[in-house]
Amino acid sequence: MARRIYYNVHTHVFSKHCIPHGIMGSGFGLIIKALEFIQMNNFVIALLSGLKILNVSKSSIPRLKMFFRSFAQGHQHEVITHLVRDQYGKFAYDKNFKFVLLSLDMDAQDAGIAPVNYLNQVGELAEYKAIKPYKDQIIPFLSINPYNMIYHRFHMMKFIKDHIEVWKFGGIKLYPATGYYPDDERLDDVWKYCVAKKLPIMTHCTCGRIHYRGKMESRLNKDKIPYNNLTDSDRQCNFTDMSHFVKILERFPTLKICFAHAGGIVFSKNPRTTLEAELKVTPLSKRAIEYKWYLEVLECCQKYDNIYIDISWINHDEITLIELAKDVKARSIEKKVLYGTDFFVNIDIIEEQKAMENSQKHFDFDLIASVNPSIYLSSDIHEFKATEP
Ligand SMILES: [Zn+2]
Repeated sequence: MARRIYYNVHTHVFSKHCIPHGIMGSGFGLIIKALEFIQMNNFVIALLSGLKILNVSKSSIPRLKMFFRSFAQGHQHEVITHLVRDQYGKFAYDKNFKFVLLSLDMDAQDAGIAPVNYLNQVGELAEYKAIKPYKDQIIPFLSINPYNMIYHRFHMMKFIKDHIEVWKFGGIKLYPATGYYPDDERLDDVWKYCVAKKLPIMTHCTCGRIHYRGKMESRLNKDKIPYNNLTDSDRQCNFTDMSHFVKILERFPTLKICFAHAGGIVFSKNPRTTLEAELKVTPLSKRAIEYKWYLEVLECCQKYDNIYIDISWINHDEITLIELAKDVKARSIEKKVLYGTDFFVNIDIIEEQKAMENSQKHFDFDLIASVNPSIYLSSDIHEFKATEP
């Protein structure tokens, strides 16, 4: 009988040493700071849980303790073991799963220098992709920030082609909030290459915790600031705005892009009636912008053949899944939904196992975690199947 292959299309495995000091604000940042000074023992995890910084049950404390020990050790390999190996006890997955590992270029966002810089971060992933037991289970994506100084040393397209074609990375990762526009002309050749090879792109499309930490004016283009009213870190929305993606899609309508977290709106915190009302108020609030993105992303899924959304991170919230499932059905875009969790960035909000159960409850899991991702991930260079003999 054919065996079904499942995919989690959205995970992160960078270790503490890949993270520049100034990268995050509260919450997760506090957890990282705690790791600087103390071992993550039972007491500290219970304390973080009590302070509502970590949202975990008592029974998961031993597992988290082991995770934090790995996270602090330096190599991403230690983090990956929690996702794909069984040596620490069943962390999350007992099915035949493959994992998209999203690298993240944190070198070019004025947040400081990480002990393991971006070149070394992707170098490690390339190494794991080449060896057993990971080579068949992991699908690294290559993060691109055109401001990274490495592109003065390496030609960007050669850097990308080497990673995709030689070291078997599966696609491209974008994170515009780290200080660049997705329609930055330096990325034009990347989109041409992705179209020609049918390569998947994953982009963040939320106003979140990781963003450009320097002077926003130095990266913002005064002719491309859709939200002049926003201040401080919220100004990151100007990089990520869907209008920039729509411009790329008008030029490259067959581009294959997954919008992470379906725009990131959490409906349990934001009732739809409130969001609809806020959409009518100008200038738009940050929350209204995120809801607008949500609607625009769904619209793009309808309009373009190769546009997808993933339910990573938002699957901590069942109300969001219920609302999204309704919208997906109304638009007949069931084939555009992909399963992901945002491991391990979701660790302060939900357990991996529970995120999967929530997803199974509200969506056809074989469709979103097997059939759809096998189509999204397959390119002219790499083939991914939904089942195997
Ligand atoms: Zn993520």
